[in-house]
Amino acid sequence: MPKAIIIGGGVAGPAAALFLRRAGWEAEIFEARPAPDAFGGLFLNVATNGLAVLDTLGLKNRLLEAGHLCPYMEMSSGRGRMLGTVPNGPAGEPERGSVVVRREWLNSVLREATAEAGIPLTWGARLDRIEETASGVTAHFADGTRAIGDILIGCDGVGSPTRRWIDPTAPDPTYAGLLSIGGFARVEGLAPTPLTQHMVFGSRGFFGYLVRDDGTAYWFANPARAERDRDELRAVPSTTWIDELRSLHAGDPYPVPQILDHTTGAIGAYGIYELPHVPHWHRGRVVAVGDAVHATSPSAGQGASLALEDAVTLALCLRDHPDHQQAFARYQQLRQHRAEEVVAYSRAIGRQKTVTSSKLAILMRDALLPLFLRGAMKDTRNNHLYNHTIPWESSILDT
Ligand SMILES: Cc1cc2nc3c(=O)[nH]c(=O)nc-3n(C[C@H](O)[C@H](O)[C@H](O)COP(=O)(O)OP(=O)(O)OC[C@H]3O[C@@H](n4cnc5c(N)ncnc54)[C@H](O)[C@@H]3O)c2cc1C
Repeated sequence: MPKAIIIGGGVAGPAAALFLRRAGWEAEIFEARPAPDAFGGLFLNVATNGLAVLDTLGLKNRLLEAGHLCPYMEMSSGRGRMLGTVPNGPAGEPERGSVVVRREWLNSVLREATAEAGIPLTWGARLDRIEETASGVTAHFADGTRAIGDILIGCDGVGSPTRRWIDPTAPDPTYAGLLSIGGFARVEGLAPTPLTQHMVFGSRGFFGYLVRDDGTAYWFANPARAERDRDELRAVPSTTWIDELRSLHAGDPYPVPQILDHTTGAIGAYGIYELPHVPHWHRGRVVAVGDAVHATSPSAGQGASLALEDAVTLALCLRDHPDHQQAFARYQQLRQHRAEEVVAYSRAIGRQKTVTSSKLAILMRDALLPLFLRGAMKDTRNNHLYNHTIPWESSILDT
């Protein structure tokens, strides 16, 4: 059986391993983090198209066990005025809407399945260097260990060393100028928000939240800030973030200040980055998947779903093409346009979050958005983003 070394145990890595196993490959996953982190990465939206991939793996229902169904997003202004509702999934089909889960729940559902399938995963294995020979590829890890396979799949996220190995001149991710800071809160008397996530165009910053049936609020804020690296962001104490956000959102409507006041546990802070176009997704025996080649801002809630789509497509290409070179080329050809379209779409949504200090601009935005959003619930122009399906049974050669 040919063997794939998979770098990264986030979303794309375990999904690729599961699909490759079905395609007749042996797979082994190597993850840099020392251990799973139950809090890590806050929460994310798994879109209809990502749920379809999980369904193919038989994992959709398991994911939904701890999910908040979210087919609607309600927008309101910093004065508490309702601006409109938009579908979070294909318009007109709320039953096929997206779902919000803790990130670690998505990761652990995928990892559970790899463990059941007997796919090994090594924690604390940070890829340091790749070496390719005529007959195989070797991953060298920072701790001095190594792994040998027929191909190497970089599922190593936005900072991907694999992307750099494939093309030393590959673009770096661009910073969107916004942070995503979030956490969890319980506010006495705050009602659950079934089927809905709320988005508030606050007077000095964008704020999103939902409330689970058990009363737990999931929230995030997108303050505009200068770029700081991941370690610098991690070093900021949660109390500092909360103080900053309290001041930024002090004038915003209920329950925004209350959620910030009642946040418990650590606050996560992440820079928002994107990779709108990476020319080369593969070289020799090495290929990259997910954020490594098309990181998207979180505004469209599609990054994880795209990573899942990549995983199934790459496995189909490896199943149906006679050699890995052809398979990798076909995979990039099938995926690149769609991924770049989603990255651009997400960026366009993100622009609306950019804060302006001009009162006039805010008034204009609050007056125009309801007009713009009026037809959104019936507007099917973006349905193709959610209705994308990748059937496992069909041959990739027929597409
Ligand atoms: C704040 C924020 C909010 C987001 N919200 C959403 C959302 O609502 N919906 C959505 O779909 N997407 C969202 N995203 C994007 C989403 O997280 C990514 O698109 C998705 O996780 C991509 O999956 P991946 O497997 O490609 O990368 P990741 O999930 O990032 O996994 C990469 C893995 O590789 C590991 N790794 C990195 N370097 C190495 C190395 N050298 N050696 C070994 N392992 C390595 C990392 O530790 C990590 O576990 C959000 C992102 C951010 C930052």
